[in-house]
Parts: sequence; C-alpha cells; structure tokens
Amino acid sequence: MIQNIGVIGAGQMGSGIAHVCMLAGYKVILNDLSEKILKKSFSGIDRSMEKQVARNKLSAQEKEEALSRLQTSVDFGEFKKCDLIIEAVTEDETIKKDTFKKLTPHLTSQCLLASNTSSIPITALACVTDRPDKFIGMHFMNPVPVMQLVEIIKGIATSNTTFHSIQDIVKRLGKQSVLSEDFPGFIVNRILMPMINEAVYALFEGVGTIEAIDKGMRMGANHPMGPLELADLIGLDTCAFIMEVLYKSRGESKYKPCPLLMKYVEAGWLGRKTNRGFYDYKGEQPIPTR
Ligand code: NAD
Repeated sequence: MIQNIGVIGAGQMGSGIAHVCMLAGYKVILNDLSEKILKKSFSGIDRSMEKQVARNKLSAQEKEEALSRLQTSVDFGEFKKCDLIIEAVTEDETIKKDTFKKLTPHLTSQCLLASNTSSIPITALACVTDRPDKFIGMHFMNPVPVMQLVEIIKGIATSNTTFHSIQDIVKRLGKQSVLSEDFPGFIVNRILMPMINEAVYALFEGVGTIEAIDKGMRMGANHPMGPLELADLIGLDTCAFIMEVLYKSRGESKYKPCPLLMKYVEAGWLGRKTNRGFYDYKGEQPIPTR
C-alpha cells in the first residue's frame, strides 16, 4: 500500500506532482538541491492551491490539510520511509542516472521508482538501479494540477505488479493513463515535439510571425494554445533536449532541432521559467520577442 511518496526535483513538474499527490492524501517528501529552491516551490504550490480555493475547486481546510502532508528536504536519507519515489530533475541523462545511483542505497527494498522523463529511455535509467522490475516511467503533463493525463511507460524489466500499482496511483490522483512502450519520445512527445519544432522552423523561415503561427494553430486547428506559447510553457531547453533525443535515436532529418530553437536556448531564453522565450513575460501581457 503506497502512503508516502518522495519527489526529487522541485521545479515546475516536481512541484506540480507534489501538489496533486498531497491533495490525493499521500504524504510527500519533496527534495531539491537547496533550501532556497524548496522554499520557492512551497510558495508556488501554496499560491496554486489558493487559486483552486478561489475557484471553489478546493476548500480552505482541504488546502491546509494537503499542505500539512508536505515535508521538504535536501537529504535523500529522509526517503527511507517512502513507498514510491518520483524523479523530476532536469532532463539530462547523466544527472538522472547520478541521482538514481545516489538515491537507491537510502531506500527500502520494496520502494518503487518512477521517472517523469519526457524522452530518456526508462530501461536505461532502470539499469543503474538495483530494482529494474520496480522501475517505471510516469510522464505527467504540464501544468500537472490541470492536465488529465499521465503516460505510463514500462521498461523492458518493469513487472506487471509495478505497472498495476502505478495505474492505481494515477486513478487515485484523479487522472487518466495511457500505456506507452519504451521508445523515444513515448507517445505524446513523439507527436507533439516535431510539431513544435516545425512551428519554430516556420518562424525561422519567415513563413509567419510568432503571433500568426500561434493564432493559426489555435484558430485553424482548434488547439487550446499555439505551439510557440506551448513551447514557452514546457521550457525551450526541455523541447530542444527532446528533439535531440529523437534525432539521435532515429537518425532522420525530420527530427533535427531547428537552429532558431537552439539559439533561444543558447541565449538562456528558456520560456516562462526565465520570463522570456518566444514571448517576453515581464509585463502585463506577453510580447513576442521577434
Ligand atoms: P525544471 O528546470 O523546472 O526543474 C528541474 C529541477 O530539478 C530544478 O529545481 C533543479 O534544481 C532540480 N535538480 C537538478 N538536479 C538535481 C539533483 N541532482 N537533485 C535534486 N534536484 C535536482 O524542469 P521541469 O520542467 O520541472 O522538468 C523536470 C522533468 O520533467 C524533466 O525530466 C522533464 O523532461 C520532465 N517533464 C517536463 C515537462 C514540461 O512541460 N516542462 C512535461 C513533462 C515532463
């Protein structure tokens, strides 16, 4: 029975994952590299729950009870009481592997491990741990409290018992799941990222302005957000990384990350998280940067 969940990485995804787990009644230990990051994450979760209270999606008491289930820590030692750890650190294979290697000695032998990776093979991450049968991909969508889907990815060694436990947790979080096999980009990003990359190519080649491309896809394809605003929400570094994984693993030119996307990443214009990407978010209204 899963009761205590550890979340590693308190960025936009880890904070969102902690948020929904607390609301579903799980005790959560949230970990990151510094107390400063954890403090920022806590105030973000608090603000986000406050919005839910304002919209009558949550009572003030439910919010307080949920927040009382949260513990933050920079120390993996705290994870010994966890039944499941969900990793949501930076999308970088070396960082993720190092994290799992350092983490496993602190866990009980029953503890399940999940990665929220967007594109790194689950089997490759599972192999650096002592429990590939208890390792699985749990790919939440951004923003986690709002989006309905969690993509579940089985690695080559993931057991059916692990899969069923994770399926049950997704249900308890009030979300839907789809099962994807462990191939680059899984289902959602395999289809979504080439579309975002193509939108950046359209901008690069001058087919349309940022606003025209986004409006075109919002109104012409009925997408709730344009591809460039969505890229800013996801993080341009994450988008570039996923395209690189698709390109390297499949070797087809259609997956080549657009040079303009790489230019934005080089500039540190990573989207909403740095206040500037395809749009500048410093003022009241987002302003296109080209
Ligand atoms: P982010 O940059 O907002 O957060 C990453 C966090 O990881 C940072 O707070 C960083 O300090 C922390 N971190 C880095 N190394 C660490 C370590 N060794 N130990 C503990 N913490 C560490 O990134 P994000 O957007 O939250 O993405 C996190 C993961 O979620 C990535 O794997 C990404 O691919 C995946 N993901 C992202 C999205 C999205 O839309 N952004 C959607 C689904 C999945």
